Amino acid sequence: MATVSFNQSTRVYPGSEKPAVDKLDLQIGDGEFMVLVGPSGCGKSTSLRMLAGLEEVNSGTIQIGDRDVTHLPPKDRDIAMVFQNYALYPHMSVADNMGFALKMANVPKAERQARVMEAAKLLGLEDFLARKPKALSGGQRQRVAMGRAIVRQPQVFLMDEPLSNLDAKLRVSTRTQIAALQSRLGVTTVYVTHDQIEAMTMGDRVAVMKDGVLQQVDSPLALYDTPANVFVAGFIGSPAMNLIKGKVSEGGVQVGDFTVPVKREVLSKAAGEETLTIGIRPENFTLSDGDGIGLDVAVVEELGADAYLYGTLAGLEDNEKLIAQQIVARISSRRPPQRGATVRIGVDPDNVHVFSDESGDRLS
Ligand code: ADP
Repeated sequence: MATVSFNQSTRVYPGSEKPAVDKLDLQIGDGEFMVLVGPSGCGKSTSLRMLAGLEEVNSGTIQIGDRDVTHLPPKDRDIAMVFQNYALYPHMSVADNMGFALKMANVPKAERQARVMEAAKLLGLEDFLARKPKALSGGQRQRVAMGRAIVRQPQVFLMDEPLSNLDAKLRVSTRTQIAALQSRLGVTTVYVTHDQIEAMTMGDRVAVMKDGVLQQVDSPLALYDTPANVFVAGFIGSPAMNLIKGKVSEGGVQVGDFTVPVKREVLSKAAGEETLTIGIRPENFTLSDGDGIGLDVAVVEELGADAYLYGTLAGLEDNEKLIAQQIVARISSRRPPQRGATVRIGVDPDNVHVFSDESGDRLS
């Protein structure tokens, strides 16, 4: 086991001016499950491949434990990687696939077999050891790929979207199994995904990237409760946080005909900005008899105990509504309003996130 640290690690691909990964600073604890997440092209795989030694580091360094591995070849880094396409050898049995790297490393046969058996037990693969990959289901192949990493007993596991070839249902059960397995083995793991739900459910901590730049690294709950900027606020959470731009006014930010209260010390940080973006999670709205943001309800989704209201700010002309930003509110009520109704939705000031319009950074 080991820690991993990226220190100002940068990758600029030949022919490109803009770094694919720009001065990444990230410290991963011993035994930690770290997830790198972000939209396609944000630099997650490049970061992982730099750690694996499959991609050159143009500046900065990478350490595993107290070793500087920046310029070591992959085989000397003591890592094992699980790829999204599994990369199993089709002509080899499951057992041979799992033991292949050990054979290459001249591990004696008896020990090889013991380690393969141990991993197979851990993964429920004992009955499949003699089969070829083509005679396995997608989920079983995925487990063989995991097994191949486990038998090597590396210091660090690297996983690049290992669930992306599984169907939705299997993805959910497999992500729980991988998280449980990782915690049992206690091996430091760096896991790449574009799926924020996967990131939030699996990671001890989650690093959110955008355009090659690390935006925030925190526990899933901290990311959810205190996103550092507008991007993280909109990326983490489903349905997404409502991000509404409004004019700064006395005591708050004007949204339609309602002033969302914002604390004075927060407003004072926005020195000189005329507009700010406020962020409110759908579940932080409540139906209100008095004050609140006016919402013209366009769609009601009843889920039983609660309901989602989708609509636009009240008081818009019909032609404006079509292009207006949609607002989503989750209302805990068994009697939600009807489609077409206009309602007021209130929010506790403690649940209002405030972001600068100039920098996108959190002010609250
Ligand atoms: P992600 O894994 O987040 O989808 P990548 O790390 O694969 O993103 O890519 C980051 C950026 O680097 C993207 O703009 C991508 O087009 C570019 N890129 C990735 N691989 C190469 C390559 N081999 N050569 C040139 N550009 C690349």
